[in-house]
Amino acid sequence: MLDTEFFRRWLAAATALIDREAGRLTELDSAIGDADHGSNLQRGFTAVAAALDKEPPQSPGAVLTLAGRQLISSVGGASGPLYGTLLRRTGKALGDAAEVTPAELAEALRAGVAAVAQLGGARAGDKTMLDALEPAVAALGETAGTFAAARDAAAAGALATVPLQARKGRASYLGERSIGHQDPGATSSALLFEALAEAAG
Ligand code: ADP
Ligand code: MG
Repeated sequence: MLDTEFFRRWLAAATALIDREAGRLTELDSAIGDADHGSNLQRGFTAVAAALDKEPPQSPGAVLTLAGRQLISSVGGASGPLYGTLLRRTGKALGDAAEVTPAELAEALRAGVAAVAQLGGARAGDKTMLDALEPAVAALGETAGTFAAARDAAAAGALATVPLQARKGRASYLGERSIGHQDPGATSSALLFEALAEAAG
């Protein structure tokens, strides 16, 4: 079973990974965007960590809902509302249970990713975060609890954005010139699943 502490560990690991990789995320965003993805997420996850410390939520769903709210209110870029929606929708799907099963988390994440697709109007292959998120939740659905498989699927999905042409977000303004670069959002999504695997570790 996954308890509230597990979800706090997940977000703490995500915050640490984003801090460590912020420079790389911003570098990727400088190639096909506006060079703020690392700093956007750093600001967002710093706010998440502060909020979780200030009023510790009492259930897995409440941890994710609070984190999502913080991302939406603290990140100005496209990624803030998108990641905020991912966490809020996933948290809402978990309800107020004190513990959830890995299968319930897989199902909730599927709903969260569907909400991201709906909000941003993107689908797999558009060179966005969905190229990492969708394979990750698919892997999680097949082998609930094997978070390493989801981590690997997300990383492979992020890498597979390199040859794609962006069809959504800022990078799409570049047309064919977006080809040959890894998508920053798919890269940060892979970090979120790396953090999940660490928390389960
Ligand atoms: P901004 O583009 O506003 O500067 P960020 O740099 O923080 O925001 O985030 C950029 C990332 O957001 C992209 O690399 C992409 O993965 C993701 N993204 C942008 N638009 C969309 C969308 N419509 N649907 C899904 N993901 C998107
Ligand atoms: Mg940007």
